[in-house]
Amino acid sequence: MTTAIDTSAPPEFHELSADEVLLLLSTDPASGLSPEGAAALLARTGPNSLPVAPRTSLAVRILRQVHNPLIYVLLAAGAITAVLGEYVDSSVILGVVVINAAIGLVQESKAEAELAGLRSMVRTSARVVRGGRERTVPSEDLVPGDLVKLEAGDKVPADLRLTHSTGLQVDESALTGESEPVDKHVDPLPAMVPVADRRNMAYSGTLVTAGTGTGVVCATGAATELGEIHRLIGAAETLATPLTAKLAGFSRMLTVGILALAAVTFAVGLLRGHDAVAMFTAAIALAVGAIPEGLPAAVTVTLAIGVGRMARRRAVIRRLPTVETLGSTTVICTDKTGTLTENQMTVQAVWTPVARYEVSGRGYEPEGTVRDDSGAAAGTDRDRALHWTLLAGAVCSDASLVDHGGKWSVVGDPTEGAMLVAAAKAGLDAAAARARWLRVAALPFSSERLFMATSHRHAADGRPLVLAKGAVERLLDLCELEMGADGTTRPLNRLAAASAAAELADRGLRVLATAVRPADASADGIEDLDEGALAEGLVFTGLQAMLDPPREAAAAAVAACRTAGISVKMITGDHAATATAIAREVGLIGTGDEAVLTGAELAALPDADMAEAAHRTGVFARVSPEQKLRLVAALQERGHVVAMTGDGVNDAPALRQAGIGVAMGASGTDVAKEAADMVLTDDDFATIEAAVEEGRGVFDNLTKFITWTLPTNLGEGLVILAAILFGAALPILPSQILWINMTTAVALGLMLAFEPKEPGIMTRPPRRPGQPLFTGTLMFRTALVSVLLVAGAWWLFNWELANGADVAQARTAAVNVFVTVQAFYLFSCRSLTRSAWRIGMFTNPWIILGLAVQAAGQLAMTYTPAMNAVFDTSPIGAGTWLRILAIAAATSLVVALEKRLRVRVEGSAPQQR
Ligand code: ATP
Repeated sequence: MTTAIDTSAPPEFHELSADEVLLLLSTDPASGLSPEGAAALLARTGPNSLPVAPRTSLAVRILRQVHNPLIYVLLAAGAITAVLGEYVDSSVILGVVVINAAIGLVQESKAEAELAGLRSMVRTSARVVRGGRERTVPSEDLVPGDLVKLEAGDKVPADLRLTHSTGLQVDESALTGESEPVDKHVDPLPAMVPVADRRNMAYSGTLVTAGTGTGVVCATGAATELGEIHRLIGAAETLATPLTAKLAGFSRMLTVGILALAAVTFAVGLLRGHDAVAMFTAAIALAVGAIPEGLPAAVTVTLAIGVGRMARRRAVIRRLPTVETLGSTTVICTDKTGTLTENQMTVQAVWTPVARYEVSGRGYEPEGTVRDDSGAAAGTDRDRALHWTLLAGAVCSDASLVDHGGKWSVVGDPTEGAMLVAAAKAGLDAAAARARWLRVAALPFSSERLFMATSHRHAADGRPLVLAKGAVERLLDLCELEMGADGTTRPLNRLAAASAAAELADRGLRVLATAVRPADASADGIEDLDEGALAEGLVFTGLQAMLDPPREAAAAAVAACRTAGISVKMITGDHAATATAIAREVGLIGTGDEAVLTGAELAALPDADMAEAAHRTGVFARVSPEQKLRLVAALQERGHVVAMTGDGVNDAPALRQAGIGVAMGASGTDVAKEAADMVLTDDDFATIEAAVEEGRGVFDNLTKFITWTLPTNLGEGLVILAAILFGAALPILPSQILWINMTTAVALGLMLAFEPKEPGIMTRPPRRPGQPLFTGTLMFRTALVSVLLVAGAWWLFNWELANGADVAQARTAAVNVFVTVQAFYLFSCRSLTRSAWRIGMFTNPWIILGLAVQAAGQLAMTYTPAMNAVFDTSPIGAGTWLRILAIAAATSLVVALEKRLRVRVEGSAPQQR
């Protein structure tokens, strides 16, 4: 008998059972692929990464540069002047279009490359089983057939067919748009189930929100579902930020206004009987001169330079607008462990209901002693509570110690590592203990549960055992008994344990309690540990207290923030006393301050009081991740711009809510990094402060560019307007205006983007969020400088004419007035408050380079016959140059006086005005 088998399509992985998939991919369910096999396969399949999105073609990129109302106007003007036979003007105009597009293109590519380069700084890794050993490999090295372990917080590194799932939940919104996490299982599914409902698969790029699991890789790189989507939409990185959007809007408005003005000029000129062609090109010149075309490019370049500077200080920006927001940060909410402290734990004291012990030694070297109050070495046989305290710490744990030739480190949680070291110092062999007590099930640690528990059976006789360790008050609540010296139990002396814990926490130590359910108790529920059944018969054994020293740079960074008007708040899962002690050490709160709120107190607080409490309090202890979200929202309600750190899965909502979500690059989960705006590659609090400083610098440089460019643009427009209104000869010709505009924006203005930060940048208050860029100060300055420019150029033009120069020479003089005044004014714009002299000539070498280039350009334009012909210029004498320099010097003097007066009247905080 034959059966009809449909051979048209091979079965998909979700249709097969987990065993069939493993067989198909030749993966051993216990030991995975062999390392050699995986390497060989990798050579064939290529890295597990998405192909770089095909770049938009050059033609499209160029067209994008040209797609701008202003350029349309220019193109039209170029075409009309060509038809009219004004070939020089038309080629100059077209030349401007080409140069403008080329500059835009180069700058855009540079900014994009900078952002793309950052992505590779935050690498993801995956835990795989290869050759029977679990190891961490870069996600790019995964191959089909690899056995991958997943836990809450991971980003799924490739498409996996699940082989194990313990409460595994995955957020698949990146793929399906569905925001609720979905439960995963391992059972085969019918063929037609769509991707979004394949519960036995975990797809690359999705995020594990709960549980643990194992899966076998069935597709990598471009072959994954994510790769498919990526191919469809292409991953275009947008360079737009709220600021660029605002500026684009401003430019559009300006374009319309200026075009209207140009039209009026044209009409007035015609009415006065001027030549239509000349009036038309003059009107065009007015438009081109008055529009700050360089502005969008300058913003992108300045932001990109800022992103680069931040990356060098180990803050990786994931979203460009963050660069702007950083400058106006008013509150930084930071966690304690690993950010303010080193996350280098060492157990310093152990307390049991029997005795207290001090532990010597530092770091993870298992060298040191455990001695009791009398100085005698601790005997775990004399104090069974000590034995079980250390054993619970070492066995109810997923960490291990690694010896790199005498230099020890922890794989896993440093808190657990410290307990392994403490056990070793007392002579307890953790590896042997783990082999003796085989683990049956585990209740993993979470920031909500605040403890971890494991159940075991004895390797020899199968006796059951439950171990637990965690936050003191949590475990004391679970226990009714405590252990005595001989290992027998007695009623818990809660008060004694709690006051011992408080005393240790006041020393700034992180205190954990341990408990056991002894082997002779019942084995109920040990197969699937659940929180409810656990408490039955749990016996408190003691406390371990560990030191996590503050980071060296933390205190200075906290102080710097304070000077900068930014308040720093600690939001930690740790105990209030420990948190307070560390907060004092880093200067976050004063000695007398008792500004601490616990999670329980926060929970009891009515919503109405929340904003005030959040604003006033410096330390929040035993806070759950959900409360972090509430705190951010409350602070925002008070008008704060909040930067918030986070590392766990449950921190993601708070990170998203915060103005700046900050994730830990080294210790954070993928979920947190994904939700964050900025990732600290060194997890250090001081890096946030550095990023804020850079953010302020970026904003300063933008303001400087705008302050420089607006007056020059307005001045150029005004000169033409005035000439036509007064019926005088044009002091500068359209082609000359185009020359001035294009060369100075690139050679002079853009160099402000490289300006180093000003010294006082962290001594002034944060920029008010939403503060307009175009302040009254800026308007006044724009008016002042443009009037000075026009007056200078106008005066010299007429003076030269009156004193025997021809029109070409007089115009050459006027053009040079414009450029020279702009060059001098550039120095004034290098600082918003300090005078040009005080900054130091050579602190920004780019400016010097730009000046040299511009000077060469001016000399060529003035003295080379070829350029004389193109631009209608003519050589001028030394006397004229002296007059030009005198005008520029006089203008600078007036600007310097204005700046000084303003600083004196309004104080030295330009950002506040
Ligand atoms: P921060 O938010 O500043 O990083 P944290 O790291 O101290 O704070 P959690 O990791 O949430 O916050 O820890 C909170 C408490 O849970 C600790 O004070 C400790 O009592 C307990 N705890 C921490 N790690 C473990 C662990 N691996 N096993 C059991 N309990 C733990």
